[in-house]
Amino acid sequence: MIRTHEAGTLRASQAGEQVVLAGWVARRRDHGGVVFLDLRDASGVVQVVVRDSESVHELRAEFCVRVDGTVRVRPAGNENPELPTGAVEVEAGVVEVLSEAEPLPFPVEGTAEVSEDVRLKYRYLDIRRADTGHAIRVRSQAAYLLSDVMRDHRFVQVETPYLTRSTPEGARDFLVPVRLRPGNWYALPQSPQLFKQLLMVGGLERYFQLARCFRDEDFRKDRQPEFTQIDIEMSFVTREDVITVAEDVVSRLWSSLAGYEIPRPLPRMTYAEAMARYGSDKPDLRFGCELADLSGYFEGTSFRVFQAPYVGAVVMPGGASQSRREFDQWQEWARSRGARGLAYATFPADGSEIGGPVAKNLSEAERAGLAAAVGASPGDCVFFAAGVPAASRELLGAARLEIGRRCGLIDESAWSFLWVVDAPMFEESSDGGWTSVHHPFTAPLPEWADKFVPDPGGALADAYDIVCNGYEIGGGSIRIHRSDMQQAVFDVIGLAAEEARSQFGFLLDAFKYGPPPHGGIAFGWDRVVMLLAGAETIRDVIAFPKAASGLDPLTGAPTPITPAQRREAGIDAKPAS
Ligand code: ASP
Repeated sequence: MIRTHEAGTLRASQAGEQVVLAGWVARRRDHGGVVFLDLRDASGVVQVVVRDSESVHELRAEFCVRVDGTVRVRPAGNENPELPTGAVEVEAGVVEVLSEAEPLPFPVEGTAEVSEDVRLKYRYLDIRRADTGHAIRVRSQAAYLLSDVMRDHRFVQVETPYLTRSTPEGARDFLVPVRLRPGNWYALPQSPQLFKQLLMVGGLERYFQLARCFRDEDFRKDRQPEFTQIDIEMSFVTREDVITVAEDVVSRLWSSLAGYEIPRPLPRMTYAEAMARYGSDKPDLRFGCELADLSGYFEGTSFRVFQAPYVGAVVMPGGASQSRREFDQWQEWARSRGARGLAYATFPADGSEIGGPVAKNLSEAERAGLAAAVGASPGDCVFFAAGVPAASRELLGAARLEIGRRCGLIDESAWSFLWVVDAPMFEESSDGGWTSVHHPFTAPLPEWADKFVPDPGGALADAYDIVCNGYEIGGGSIRIHRSDMQQAVFDVIGLAAEEARSQFGFLLDAFKYGPPPHGGIAFGWDRVVMLLAGAETIRDVIAFPKAASGLDPLTGAPTPITPAQRREAGIDAKPAS
């Protein structure tokens, strides 16, 4: 062994012991002939005293060193109660340099702000930093806990392939050329959805995996082209059984890693209620500000803008005192979300007449009853949206979140979980047809089994999403296991029989051989760990994430390939027929 002890474990009871430590120079302080080094390894930090300063004069931050020395109790008054090893120091005999470090691109110690691109380019140094290292360790602990829960429930852990056919999660696939079959391509899985269903046909009954998923989507701030799911599938179950296992997972993780006992069963809300009250399918329930439906209130209004199928509003407490500029910024905010603007009215604090551009368009009676109809008090303002219900509610839902943030209404130390159930099965696609809201293997609620074909717009899915603090952290459904029903869903979404065969023929074939009723769920593991670690983005809990640009500053990937690689991979080859 290169060392006898771990730096962070030394305590006063070990005074007098001879130890050999190895780690990195976190800090050095020179005090007239005596040098103090903070030596850091994975276990923590200990102070090392070097009396012969000559022997360490070339030592700089992040040199990797080995120290031979004796543990001593620190002289009275020199203890550091902030540090677990703060009662002791190690009097160095020999300090051996194991490897040198060049001047650093950013300090590893301390909390200096460093741009993310630089941190990711030197991710190995970033991982040495306390916060990043901590987040990655939390992720590991979470994975151990997860396997405990799944083992307790007798789940079988299975790895499904990365090189496969396209899977139907609705994003673009990442494609991989195949040298041995020029012109043919594998797709990286968007999720193991079809394989987990095949495992149910295979009779495993309970499957789980920490599965890597790949989706070629437009890059958004907190999205990664590859991410990890806790993927779960179960046979002979109803929604309640899947929900029970999922709540076990969440409650074990939060209890052990966040010290929070989730209230069980978690509250549930239907998708319709979530949209109506919060304008979101993943409402953040840590604060109120529910949307007010004013469609009835403005029925028969002479204000053209409010002659719409839906008129709704959300109150901003204390918002009346915002400046003209602030109201203009709200307009910009709404336009950046694709809305035309954000109509508003103010209720002055002194109780005088309603202000804001909308007011003059309203009748006397409409103005008089408005505060009561939206639940506003003097000093508040109210934002309106009018139009088709879905888009208007979404705008108000987003405004609600923005209000929560700007007004400091969100209790950041609180946890709020809920299930959002009974989402629609289908939504209208841009070409006027229907697409699946989840994926096409999602079963309808039992009461919609015979009715979804004539009424796809009304049909509800036997689906459930779990939401934490306004993030959708997981989602799943009971699946279709009968070919006739599966075919009917394909018909609704306009997937012709041959096309369905060519894409999912293997699943349809499997369903000929006694498929069990089954259902499952997948959690976004990166998001779950982000919440548990108190991190700000999922990138903070991924060891080697892509940058916000979608690229990898560390390796420089993606890179061009050579003409020879291109030929060899058969990229331009026509598939042999
Ligand atoms: N495969 C689905 C997804 O990745 C989750 C599920 O239905 O289990 O979103």
